[in-house]
Amino acid sequence: MKDADVVIIGGGILGSGVAQCASAAGYRVILVDKNKIAKATSSNSSKLIHGGLRYLETAQLKLVYESLSERSFLLANAKDLVRPVKFYIPVYQSSQRKPWQLFAGLSLYYLLSGFNRYGQFRRVNRKEWATITGIRQEGMIALFQYWDAQTDDYLLTSSVAQSAQEMGAEIYENCNCTKIEKKGESYVVETESKGEIVKINAKCVVNAAGPWGTEIAKKLVPRVPDLEVELVAGSHVLLDISASDHILYLESHQDTRVVFVMPWYGKTLVGTTESAVKEAPDTFKASENEIQYLCEIYAHYFEQYSYQELKSLIIRTFCGARVLPKNSFNPYKRSRETMMKVYPEHQNVVTILGGKLTTYRVTAKQTLVWLEKRLGKRTQVADFDKIALTKPKAN
Ligand SMILES: Cc1cc2nc3c(=O)[nH]c(=O)nc-3n(C[C@H](O)[C@H](O)[C@H](O)COP(=O)(O)OP(=O)(O)OC[C@H]3O[C@@H](n4cnc5c(N)ncnc54)[C@H](O)[C@@H]3O)c2cc1C
Repeated sequence: MKDADVVIIGGGILGSGVAQCASAAGYRVILVDKNKIAKATSSNSSKLIHGGLRYLETAQLKLVYESLSERSFLLANAKDLVRPVKFYIPVYQSSQRKPWQLFAGLSLYYLLSGFNRYGQFRRVNRKEWATITGIRQEGMIALFQYWDAQTDDYLLTSSVAQSAQEMGAEIYENCNCTKIEKKGESYVVETESKGEIVKINAKCVVNAAGPWGTEIAKKLVPRVPDLEVELVAGSHVLLDISASDHILYLESHQDTRVVFVMPWYGKTLVGTTESAVKEAPDTFKASENEIQYLCEIYAHYFEQYSYQELKSLIIRTFCGARVLPKNSFNPYKRSRETMMKVYPEHQNVVTILGGKLTTYRVTAKQTLVWLEKRLGKRTQVADFDKIALTKPKAN
């Protein structure tokens, strides 16, 4: 039987972030993933390291503040992986978001960024509108430019996991957690890898299994009630259209949601959607309806392309799922804060779900506080706030 202070289930950005933070704090960490590191939600996101301008519409000020501060950290400490990008918001006569509202929102964004240089924005002069090549200008009444950042989510997550490994964390891929049983003051985490059962004895367990988090909670012995969460899938289409050097923040003409058009390795990425799903399959796939929705929005703004033409330009599609709190709001309006749940009968097991790629370090630090309460402090290996990230070495 293997032995650890903490076993982390799931090697997405949250599990990898906790592994990095807990290893830096001196704990013996084992992380298991049923697949490969960073192959689920954390490589199927919109790849933005952003404050989340649209979250101001639902008054998620704390989330935006934390996200902007994490954006600053990552721009300074993960230079190979996170780069600032200009964002443009075109406003049309028909847009729901009016120029004054965007001006107010962007001013608040600037304030919440601590008047950071990447919090600055401007209303673009009409003469410059043509710099957004190909976009429909008819009916356009304003154009705003602000800053956020873009990453390669797969590389970022892999880099965080490698950093954890360098500080002593043991990481096992293709290792499926099948049972988490309370034994006295500890837990025995049962895993299965290539037909072999491996048991790990640990004081604490972190469930960071993303969309499969509810399944992991069902593996707890003694049993616990189901988590109050819902899954909402989000898809992207990658189009064979040369990339621009900026990101467009577009209002969907169908339902007023915000959809991004982004450069991605020389091509154009469009996303995302929101479709409720009942339970997590092994892999999520973009549906025909979602592909149609995204292509129609692109064709609405770039009239030189017909919907049929765009369909023939699709290089690939991908899909991931958000874990959102279960409530009556429409998914677009639900909180994007990370949810942390500790069951009364399992005080040494924490479930961390949802949240943002951008704020993974915030979640990792909150989980560390929880760990320290249970295990006491250890001799620090590194200062988590000073760890720089570089592109991961190829495996
Ligand atoms: C469409 C979409 C767009 C997004 N865009 C952005 C964005 O632009 N910016 C941003 O900041 N955030 C964004 N997010 C949010 C962000 O991507 C997620 O919050 C984050 O990736 C979730 O990471 P995770 O570690 O919780 O889950 P995951 O990355 O899904 O990791 C969970 C891991 O658990 C493993 N696992 C599951 N079951 C088991 C088991 N039985 N045993 C062992 N391992 C198991 C899985 O294999 C997986 O690797 C987006 C989310 C979605 C869905």
